[in-house]
Amino acid sequence: MSRIIGIDLGTTNSCVCIVEGGHPVIIPNDTGERATPSVVAFTQKGDVLVGSAAKRQQAVNPGRTISSVKRQMGTSWSMKIDDKRWTAQEISALILRRLRQDAETYLGETVTDAVITVPAYFNDIQRQATKDAGRIAGLNVRRIINEPTSAALAYGLNNGTPQKIMVYDLGGGTFDVSIIEIGEGVIEVLATSGDNHLGGDDFDERVMNHLLDTFQRESHIDLRRDPAATGRVREAAEQAKKELSGSEIAQISLPFIAQRDGQPVHMELSLTRAKFDQLTADLVERTAVPVRNALRDAGISPSQLGRVLLVGGSTRIPAVQAKVRQLTGKEPSRSINPDECVAQGAAVQGDILQGSRELAAKGDILLLDVTPLSLSIETVGGVATRLVERNARLPIHHSQIFSTTAPFQRAVEIHVLQGERPMARDNKSIGRFRLTGIERAMAGVPQIEVTFDIDANGILTVSAQDKKTGKAQSITITASDKMSEDEIQQAIRDAELFAGQDSLYKDGMAAVNDARTLVSRVEAALKQQGKAIDKAQKRQIKSDIAALNKVLFRCRPGKMNESDIAGLRDAIARLEASSANL
Ligand code: AMP
Repeated sequence: MSRIIGIDLGTTNSCVCIVEGGHPVIIPNDTGERATPSVVAFTQKGDVLVGSAAKRQQAVNPGRTISSVKRQMGTSWSMKIDDKRWTAQEISALILRRLRQDAETYLGETVTDAVITVPAYFNDIQRQATKDAGRIAGLNVRRIINEPTSAALAYGLNNGTPQKIMVYDLGGGTFDVSIIEIGEGVIEVLATSGDNHLGGDDFDERVMNHLLDTFQRESHIDLRRDPAATGRVREAAEQAKKELSGSEIAQISLPFIAQRDGQPVHMELSLTRAKFDQLTADLVERTAVPVRNALRDAGISPSQLGRVLLVGGSTRIPAVQAKVRQLTGKEPSRSINPDECVAQGAAVQGDILQGSRELAAKGDILLLDVTPLSLSIETVGGVATRLVERNARLPIHHSQIFSTTAPFQRAVEIHVLQGERPMARDNKSIGRFRLTGIERAMAGVPQIEVTFDIDANGILTVSAQDKKTGKAQSITITASDKMSEDEIQQAIRDAELFAGQDSLYKDGMAAVNDARTLVSRVEAALKQQGKAIDKAQKRQIKSDIAALNKVLFRCRPGKMNESDIAGLRDAIARLEASSANL
């Protein structure tokens, strides 16, 4: 069996690593670089360029160069180049194939197996798309793991002290923050949060716009009309940004950037770190909310963090480091290169899967990832009954018994939902199926076991079984039904926004259901026990039923306020009291 390589398939750069002699070793590419730009280009001559060669010609060939394709993983994005339409998986596969070839050259043997990392916020479709990209590149993807988990694994190798840590990962295109618990041989993700559309590219954009505006003000030339010139400015903006991580001022020098009256015009500008900080302050600030959310979801305060790990090239920006210090009150760790530690962790995971003797001696490390949103099924009254909580640890096997609501009901519909809202209609419907052949019985008698299974890669299978007849049915959630990253983020924001409103709706709905159940139960008992009931009590019960029905008639779930619910609960309590002995 070939050795398992670890791949960090990044938005901006990708990196490949292998464990040798018990230590992760970054594999350089054919030009000696330790990271390969995640850029693919198609030349007019029909060649395909990957990495630095593609990035270098991006400015002069922007229409046939693809960068940041990771942002499109799991979407319907595609790009037509000549006669072929390329999907995000196929473009990613070109990058993966290059990394695989680099590993083969370095190791001098065929490589077939890999562990690939994805942002913690990737949903099932995006994970599946990454797996598909691996397959297209001729790789057997042994495991998809979360980037912050991978980083923690890389650090966990060097540091066995049990503790809770934060991984703050600001890369080229995505921001992830995760709270992770490192225990004895276990690394568990307690909570994750982030922003799938925030990263170094946004910082480049701010600098680029500043340079273009300044240039236009000074020279009255609008470079935005010239894609090749804009591409050069973007490259220079990124370079200036990187320089400003180490110095207070950066020079931007782009000779022959334009022409006026047949004469060349050059861009000669400078940018101070203070100006850069001012241009990007809101981007840095945007990382604060996910940090607070992750801490809240993990149920810990910053003072309980043992360490804060910085991952991703953009954490080299001094203002970002200052923000992390301010948010956590800790000096962040950077002892493993922030661009490389994700790939290192993936290689370590690969080595564990291979059952390496060196690592086995240190004890197996179990990876526990989490679900990004809660999973529920729809039950009576349109309520979303939760089976799996958001941030629950993977893999998951959870069963719960449900029943029928009508007499002699032969089928039930299992409607699977993803989201944080209490009512089914406010969550995302991700799948539904019918379980038929349930044994004829009174309502509430059949025992239907609903099971949610989520594997280590986050792929969900829901099954339902009638315990009496053994009849079972299941679905594995299909791609078209899954939520996009933006939908996940929106669902979390909605849940926070509507929290008050939702709980009123849910309480109102519950009170109405309770009232209806009580009235029908008491009416049935009155009929059944008839004369056996004391006349005065019967009068009281009938009057309480009438009063409750009157209140019920006025109640519209969704339009009830707190006092309406309290009034209904009072009427329920009165009928419960008068009918207590029935
Ligand atoms: P990654 O996805 O981790 O490879 O991060 C790539 C991002 O980090 C890109 O946006 C780079 O421009 C950015 N980056 C790399 N080095 C630096 C640096 N020294 N200062 C600021 N940003 C950097």
